[in-house]
Amino acid sequence: MEGSHGETGKALRGKAKQLYATDDPEILWVEYKNTATAGDGEKKEDFTGKGRLNNLITTIIFDLLKKRGIDSHLVKRVNATGQLVRKVNMFPLEIVLRNVAAGHFCSRLGVEEGLPLKEPVLEYFLKNDDLHDPFVNDDDLVALGVCTREDLAEIAPLARKINEALIEIFAKIDVKLVDFKIEMGRASDGTLLLADEITPDSCRLWDQRDHSGKVEHLDKDLFRRGLGSIIPAYEEIEERLAELAKSEGIEVAE
Ligand code: ADP
Ligand code: UDP
Repeated sequence: MEGSHGETGKALRGKAKQLYATDDPEILWVEYKNTATAGDGEKKEDFTGKGRLNNLITTIIFDLLKKRGIDSHLVKRVNATGQLVRKVNMFPLEIVLRNVAAGHFCSRLGVEEGLPLKEPVLEYFLKNDDLHDPFVNDDDLVALGVCTREDLAEIAPLARKINEALIEIFAKIDVKLVDFKIEMGRASDGTLLLADEITPDSCRLWDQRDHSGKVEHLDKDLFRRGLGSIIPAYEEIEERLAELAKSEGIEVAE
């Protein structure tokens, strides 16, 4: 299996990644693509090196989380743009955690970007392209049969625990974790697992190293707002995370 994802394997094509079946029904091959999309896929551009960087970044973050007692679908990174993951039955949910007001939170509630939130906000969006991923609450999800109360009673605390761990990890590399999106699913044995990715595509990351009070975005907002290439920012995040991981005894690919 190593070194190849077997092009014959059935592929699930996403916007930023492609998933392939492997000869093990429990394991998928994820290929990280160079494509960045924004605005419901209306804005799209390829950035050379993005797939490699996101593969490295998500691998390091999942390894740092594992060290903090949080398991993910990651089995291992296998080459520059590929990793093997445990196949899970995904909940069709974008689980968003917010520590500082930004993005949709500001437009929906009429608050200034950058407002610190008194406590973290957990939001769910239903993954449905035709409906543009609508905002939903617990009752919506249970009423529609997307998940049960019992599922939500596991998903919410895990999401908050991941937020606490990520705040601590990013603070250590002088980055403020403004908000992020995660996805979860159940493995064949029923275990709830963090899946998909955690990268600057799916987080808002503000640099806390001196920028004379100006927000320095180290995430996909650079692309959303047309502020230039995302690559130097993604490289910066990768380098700082790699240094942190090494200091914790985690093996990091060069
Ligand atoms: P999008 O859904 O935005 O196009 P991607 O391009 O990242 O997203 O595509 C990756 C797809 O793979 C998503 O639909 C995601 O839910 C799914 N996925 C991620 N991890 C797993 C996993 N371990 N098992 C099954 N599906 C997964
Ligand atoms: N996010 C994501 N995928 C999406 C929508 C949002 O990864 O399809 C992330 C986004 O990068 C941010 C957080 O979720 O870190 C909250 O995004 P928000 O709801 O504010 O939406 P946006 O303004 O990014 O569309």
